[in-house]
Amino acid sequence: MIISTGTASGKSLAYLTPAVASCLDGGTILYLTPTKALAADQLRGLRELRITQLRAACFDGDTPFEERTWVRQHANYVLTNPDMLHRSILPRHAQWSSFFRRLRMVVIDECHGYRGVFGSHVAQILRRLRRVCARYGSRPTFLLASATASEPGAFGMRLTGLEMDEVTVDASPKGSTTIALWEPPLTELRGEGGAPVRRTATAEAADLLADLVLADVRTLAFVRSRRGAETVALTARAKLADVAFSLSTRHPRPSTPRRPNPTPPESDPTLNHQPGTAEPADTTQPGLLETDLTTHHRPPARATPPEADPALSHQPGAAEPAGPATPEPSRTTSGLSATTPAVSTSKHEGPAAEPASESSLRWALPDAPAQPDWTDLPNKIAAYRAGYLAEDRRILEKALRSGTIMGLATTNALELGVDVSGLDAVLIAGWPGTRASLWQQAGRAGRDGQDALAVLIARDDPLDTYLVHHPQALFGQPVEAIVLDPDNPYVLGPHLCAAAAEIPLTDDDLPTFGITTSTVLDDLVSQGLLRRRPAGWFWTRRERATDLADIRGGGGAPIQVVESSTGRLLGSVDEPSAHTTVHTGAVYLHQGETFLVELLDLEAGVALVSSATPDFTTFARDITDISILATQRSHPLGPGTLHFGEVEVTRQVVSYLKRRLQSGEMLGDEPLDLPPRTLRTRAVWWTLPASAVAPLAEAGIDLGGAAHAAEHASIGLLPLFATCDRWDIGGVSTELHADTGLLTVFVYDGHEGGAGFAERGYARAAEWLTATREAITSCECERGCPSCIQSPKCGNGNEPLDKRGAVRLLNTLLSPQ
Ligand SMILES: [Zn+2]
Ligand SMILES: [Zn+2]
Repeated sequence: MIISTGTASGKSLAYLTPAVASCLDGGTILYLTPTKALAADQLRGLRELRITQLRAACFDGDTPFEERTWVRQHANYVLTNPDMLHRSILPRHAQWSSFFRRLRMVVIDECHGYRGVFGSHVAQILRRLRRVCARYGSRPTFLLASATASEPGAFGMRLTGLEMDEVTVDASPKGSTTIALWEPPLTELRGEGGAPVRRTATAEAADLLADLVLADVRTLAFVRSRRGAETVALTARAKLADVAFSLSTRHPRPSTPRRPNPTPPESDPTLNHQPGTAEPADTTQPGLLETDLTTHHRPPARATPPEADPALSHQPGAAEPAGPATPEPSRTTSGLSATTPAVSTSKHEGPAAEPASESSLRWALPDAPAQPDWTDLPNKIAAYRAGYLAEDRRILEKALRSGTIMGLATTNALELGVDVSGLDAVLIAGWPGTRASLWQQAGRAGRDGQDALAVLIARDDPLDTYLVHHPQALFGQPVEAIVLDPDNPYVLGPHLCAAAAEIPLTDDDLPTFGITTSTVLDDLVSQGLLRRRPAGWFWTRRERATDLADIRGGGGAPIQVVESSTGRLLGSVDEPSAHTTVHTGAVYLHQGETFLVELLDLEAGVALVSSATPDFTTFARDITDISILATQRSHPLGPGTLHFGEVEVTRQVVSYLKRRLQSGEMLGDEPLDLPPRTLRTRAVWWTLPASAVAPLAEAGIDLGGAAHAAEHASIGLLPLFATCDRWDIGGVSTELHADTGLLTVFVYDGHEGGAGFAERGYARAAEWLTATREAITSCECERGCPSCIQSPKCGNGNEPLDKRGAVRLLNTLLSPQ
């Protein structure tokens, strides 16, 4: 059974009820989530039920060894993740025999996270799980919970290999939500090739957050990185500090209460052509928000710098600016409050301004009296990140509910574990990747069935540009199907080895693992990984078969990411991605924390990093060659032809681009010395015959530049159709390709063996390429910019590019024949 409904629609209750009933009846439950944090949260919820017969326990990398035996022998509700199932539970299934024998239900929570290569691995792990259960005579029910997805039953079947019933009707009460699509303006700044730079989504988010909080609207801002979230929170706080400062100095005795008319931003020159800011400024408070982010911090800035908060110091990385920073009490009471009278507002009724409390968690005190003191305004905004302990999260939830905190900037870490109800507005800085995530994040707004606001703020990316200009691509559209490809031989092979090591494989097992199984088994035998005997296929090697599969990466020996000052292992990156994500000089994000890579040593398999707060981001740039190994499918497209097949890609990361975090301004292109890598994968490509392109060349179009621009934009748009990330795919374009002899544009899966994305592009090519053309024409820049045809990872420094030529080329390709 798969339940696929919106946020807060009661999915947990739907699986908890039968799960707990099974435990009371002598059965056991296996609960799987993609992350440890969510498992810990679920465990807390289960314990709060106070049912003595329910013996729930987490079993993950953090579980102490002495506890593991207890869990295996006594727990009847085990919460774990696919990694643990793969590496520990399945290989040692004999130790879990009593648990497996009684297993009634496997709950797979947040299962929309199992997509692409990772999802394909999880699909094979679940097939191994089913085989082990069968060995112990159990046939558990699989209950999947997912965010809204299209064709959830088909996805559930691909993930588990089992027939699925689907529940998709969401009858939970909800108000209506107004969705705003917001495009930041172009600025005077110039980027690569003199292209105009758009104001960043984070800068716009900070403005909006400050405005909404001033208007007494409880707001949550979703920002991609933790550093970005902290920047948004700090910038918005600084804006509120400016407001507080102006109020306290210019209007010591305001005759009118601030509310109910909120103060809109006034004379920010970069903001004045935004939609929806037509409301005039309150004339009693002129020029309150005149500071622009780019010229920020006018003296005397009342911005509150983040400080290590002693009460939160047990958190990992406490030296980082902690989210809900608190000003020193002395600062809160200095000068300002002496000249600031108590201002009573319709909501903020309470005692007159009082001196700041001694508590460092004053902002978080439940039911604290509302602070009419302007100086407290900045403290109404906080940042939230992953890694907070449950008790801190509860404090934060209370502060949000009571209104002590009105604005929160966060990464989507919030999705995992904070229960935020009672929000009025949600800001989403940058397309979150899928319509499903957009609705999930927007669904956070709306308290007690009231109406709400959600704002999607576009980043400078062709997909974001396309979406803010084409609302029809968001509204009235089904959410995405979740794409995965369990038949990928690079995924299947290692799991067949692991399965054989668990219990030797027989002919009866072949259907469980999919149609390509016998071919892949023959391959494994010829490679000497498995041994064929009359009784079946055996793993006879000494090493652990499970080490063959790197389920969160793309295969190959992973690169260890180590903090140089402490020797702490932060995580690992698969070798192919290491070139682009942890090259020397890269800004590396780990669970929202920012690090700078000091050195990537490929031979030692180590990337040394140090904690840092650079004011720039980095983008690796590569040059790519591609050759066609086999064409599997083709069909005509306009005057040209569309193909899908196997390719070999040779890629070399040659440099990295630095761009300023706040403004997006280009800071430089630093060379790198990394070896080329080859990748066998799948690609979709289109060709145009000479007869079709000749008129374009005669019209003076640079065909190479036009194809290159079309390639960049089409990479940007594929995620809309294939539920992938822009970084999961790559492209090559050429006026004349050696294998086709024609003008050719390729888009390929960036993972060994393919991940299903290019295949999706092939299936929906006409829509995909039409949207690509629309994205280019919607952008108001003249000759191309990052919002349309420039790519941050272009190895050719975005040369040559021909914006108008790309539109003409796509017109030709999409013309009916
Ligand atoms: Zn543009
Ligand atoms: Zn390029």
